[in-house]
Amino acid sequence: MSYPKIHLYPRKEESLLRFHPWVFSGAIASITDGKPQDGDLVEVLDARGSTLGIGHYAAGSIAVRMLSFGRSEQIGRDFFRDRLRAALELRASMGLIRPEGGPATPNTVYRLIHGEGDSLPGLIIDIYGDTAVMQAHSMGMHHSRELIAEALMETYSEAPGLTPPLQSVYYKSETTLPTRDMRELAEDGFLIGHTEASYVWENGLKFIPDWLKGQKTGFFIDQRDNRSLLALYADGRRVLNAFCYTGGFSVYALASGAERVDSLDSSGKAMYLTEQHVALNFGADCPRHHSITQDAFDYLEQMPEGAYDLIILDPPAFAKHRKVLRNALIGYRRINSQAFRKIAPGGIVFTFSCSQAVSKEEFRLAVFTAAASSGRRVRILHQLTQPVDHPINIYHPEGEYLKGLVLYVE
Ligand code: SAH
Repeated sequence: MSYPKIHLYPRKEESLLRFHPWVFSGAIASITDGKPQDGDLVEVLDARGSTLGIGHYAAGSIAVRMLSFGRSEQIGRDFFRDRLRAALELRASMGLIRPEGGPATPNTVYRLIHGEGDSLPGLIIDIYGDTAVMQAHSMGMHHSRELIAEALMETYSEAPGLTPPLQSVYYKSETTLPTRDMRELAEDGFLIGHTEASYVWENGLKFIPDWLKGQKTGFFIDQRDNRSLLALYADGRRVLNAFCYTGGFSVYALASGAERVDSLDSSGKAMYLTEQHVALNFGADCPRHHSITQDAFDYLEQMPEGAYDLIILDPPAFAKHRKVLRNALIGYRRINSQAFRKIAPGGIVFTFSCSQAVSKEEFRLAVFTAAASSGRRVRILHQLTQPVDHPINIYHPEGEYLKGLVLYVE
């Protein structure tokens, strides 16, 4: 199979030889053998004409997202199946897939494909029990969706030890494709099979993913390890879970013996999901849990001092682009400084940023400034990041987005 050829300027191949998966438009000297359209497969060559690999073409500053390096190869169902199989083997070997009824606490929700981190740029696949939810962030992956769905079913049918077996593949890209025209083209729905959302297990706790209307693919899988860490500290503490969304942190805190958990979110829908998850795990009436539907900035400003011993701050991505970075940092400073000011002596703050545009250092500086303004003695206990099913290609540091700090406030 021959693809349109993208010829790079001299020395522009260096990052690709190190497996960085993006070709920027400024690195392209010429295009021959056809006129690629958004989403088409292309072959990338260095200035001497040697093949560097195959990728998806896109009109924009990231012109090619590499799928394979080295010799030219066919990008078909077998190619996707091999990548999916490797990703599944990694998750299985990390002990993430644990069926109900087995010797360990069940876990049936995990991210199978994390884009560049799993050598499939532009593709996300999350597994919720018997359902896979697929999200395309590039036109190339959108074009390949049927092929990928078939390859997924094949991959799981070869791995029968995984229960429950995969029954369906849901496609959810109406909000993630890069341009409005593309998003209008994409239609969310099942590509294979049809399943109703029912509960899945995360570390022995139950959650119901909402892939139809929820954020991301329906659940914030990336906070799993950080929720587990919280469970170590929640016993006997009065907990505020700010920006709670589906209440993941609240459920872990309640399960590990928190005296009281207040879940706070400005969205009524989020509070509904949180209450549903609390009820699913602890019964319809859980007197230790309280819902607060309010703006978190207002609540943190108004709340009395000493009301909480543990505060979680997990806001939405305040900065989606570097252009709004300053405002984002002000936002982080404001919420963190309130938490430091108000938390009871000996309290613990779990604070996060999921903005890819905010670096670890910038986030830490914002938290530092907030701590300094509170006048409290603050120590860092843990530095948190994303879990093993959200791996980062070491040559593609852009894949690192989740940052967190656990702080002890005297
Ligand atoms: N901690 C969650 C994910 C948080 S997503 C988890 O582990 O699943 C961010 C949440 O912040 C969303 O539910 C959104 O409704 C809420 N939110 C956004 N702006 C807010 C504000 N100003 N005050 C309170 N909640 C807000």
